Amino acid sequence: MNLRTVLGDVSVELVDRVLPHEHLLCDFSPVTGDRNHIFNNPALAVRELGYMNEDVPPAQGAQHAIVEVTLRDLGRDPEGMRRISRESGTHVVMGTGWYLEPYYPKQVYEISAERHAAQMIEEIEEGVLAADGTRIRAGVIGEIGTHGSTLSPAEERVLRAAGRASNATGAAVTTHAFMYPTGVDQLSILEEEGVDPRRIAIGHVDTFLDHAYLTGLLNRGVYLQFDTCGREHLMPDSLRVEMLVRLIDEGWVDSLLISSDRCHMTDLKIRGGLGYSWAIAGFCDLLRSAGVAESAVSQLTRENPLRLLTGVRSANV
Ligand SMILES: [Zn+2]
Repeated sequence: MNLRTVLGDVSVELVDRVLPHEHLLCDFSPVTGDRNHIFNNPALAVRELGYMNEDVPPAQGAQHAIVEVTLRDLGRDPEGMRRISRESGTHVVMGTGWYLEPYYPKQVYEISAERHAAQMIEEIEEGVLAADGTRIRAGVIGEIGTHGSTLSPAEERVLRAAGRASNATGAAVTTHAFMYPTGVDQLSILEEEGVDPRRIAIGHVDTFLDHAYLTGLLNRGVYLQFDTCGREHLMPDSLRVEMLVRLIDEGWVDSLLISSDRCHMTDLKIRGGLGYSWAIAGFCDLLRSAGVAESAVSQLTRENPLRLLTGVRSANV
């Protein structure tokens, strides 16, 4: 089983912990107007991943993996990701697709779901052309999102395309369902496209911690991503832990993922933040203190994300 990274496909034996929803280089500022949301310094990212590797040293011969879900409308930088991966000794999985309104450039509105899907498939199978003539392949579709409580027509078109690209390639779809229970509508569209629910992660569900919402999604077979760990202004970690413990007790341990969605300068350790290690270090300690077994911590931080992400087929390579 392989993980498709910006440096090529790697065997899961070479992967230790996986953070399934992070940003290393991104720029949300054109929409948010917030300079703290400009996050585009590869040297800084390398340094921060160094702190992560110090806090949680990877197993001998393995590296941690970051799923970098920044898409083109957030300033995706494939060559920057490749440099960061090499210099930090961290696997990096790149996303494909478009984020959400109002970040979309004009071109997103002008093409059909079929054309969007073809572009995503090309980035997964062939890759993005780098300046040196090599190609950098995407290993996941997303983060694909909804900007409010309902999907706009363009967001629905991009999500349908994501579903078709997942069917064609085996790549997982990772979504942005923020502050509203929009995972339900997102999943319905992906189901209509015939996507295998084990290839779907509904993201940011820890910003809407409603038990009926979460178990409704779980019963349809998807992964739930608690991916804003440590962002206390959105939701206290104590409540994330409480819900995770409840869901684990109810038998959902193989469908849960954790990450931290770092996308602000002040998230970085060098700027006083918790850094990339929080989800796999401090947050896991909170889970352990709440009685979660080490085997369950391992499932959340390694086996589950690897099962989700390693479905990419090697055809056309
Ligand atoms: Zn997001």
